[in-house]
Amino acid sequence: MAMLIDLHTHSAVSDGTDSPAELVAHAAAAGLDVLAVTDHDTVAGLDEACAAGSRLGVEVLCGLELSARLSCRSVHLLGYGPDPENAALAAELSKLRCGRDDRVPAMVARLGDLGFSLELDEVLEKAAGVSVGRPHVADAMIARGYVRDREEAFTRWLYEGGPAYVDRYATELSAAIELIKAAGGVAVIAHPWGRGTDQVLTPDVLAELAASGLDGLEADHPDHQASTRAELRLLASRLGLLVTGGSDHHGTGKTRNPLGVCATDPAVYAEIRHRIH
Ligand code: AMP
Ligand code: FE
Ligand code: FE
Ligand code: ZN
Repeated sequence: MAMLIDLHTHSAVSDGTDSPAELVAHAAAAGLDVLAVTDHDTVAGLDEACAAGSRLGVEVLCGLELSARLSCRSVHLLGYGPDPENAALAAELSKLRCGRDDRVPAMVARLGDLGFSLELDEVLEKAAGVSVGRPHVADAMIARGYVRDREEAFTRWLYEGGPAYVDRYATELSAAIELIKAAGGVAVIAHPWGRGTDQVLTPDVLAELAASGLDGLEADHPDHQASTRAELRLLASRLGLLVTGGSDHHGTGKTRNPLGVCATDPAVYAEIRHRIH
């Protein structure tokens, strides 16, 4: 039987809705052989996920999704297998999480100005994990009945540049790649041409990044249509980059991202394992 390998998922340690152990249990139930847990800007869920993986017979790949920046646009970088004890990486992750914490009061104030009364604690209680984000602001708005779901909160209020959007610190993309590599990990750009990032991640820019250590592109992602995936595959093969796939599962927080909806080729997964040191 074919191996099912999903290399992009989130737990409640960031903006998913399942605990790391629940996420792995759902992966087992969905018939996944390999699951990468890739929470935003933290590795805090990985010990619990790995323990659940050994118990349930699911191979867990330790990962993260780092918030990066390229030409003022938000770009996400998946890191597989970096040493979680690496001092430079740990310091950068805590800087990113501070930036996340700092912007929440400003977003609550923006929403107040827009007529959505909200207490800071209502957001923080939705963010039970260590990495707070806009999805938790959305959850607090849902609880108040201001919006139906996260999708509506993002589409109307929280999108990048939207009425209640507040920017936060993110690592320069080239520095982010270097950090992951220096910590022994494998660096793959998440959803490279999803939500407008095709404007900054041009073929020329990707060629430069490939020459300076980038390992791969996540071509198979729910935010990419079939033609985009095909173009990215072609570009990756021209640049010598790996092509990965992942669902970007967020539990019940993103209904279009069921576990395993996008997957990674076993040969590519083996190469990723091989490159981690
Ligand atoms: P932040 O990192 O706080 O700026 O928030 C970005 C996160 O919001 C991303 O990691 C996505 O998981 C999530 N997100 C973006 N757009 C949507 C959407 N339309 N519906 C649900 N979640 C979304
Ligand atoms: Fe997310
Ligand atoms: Fe992402
Ligand atoms: Zn993600």
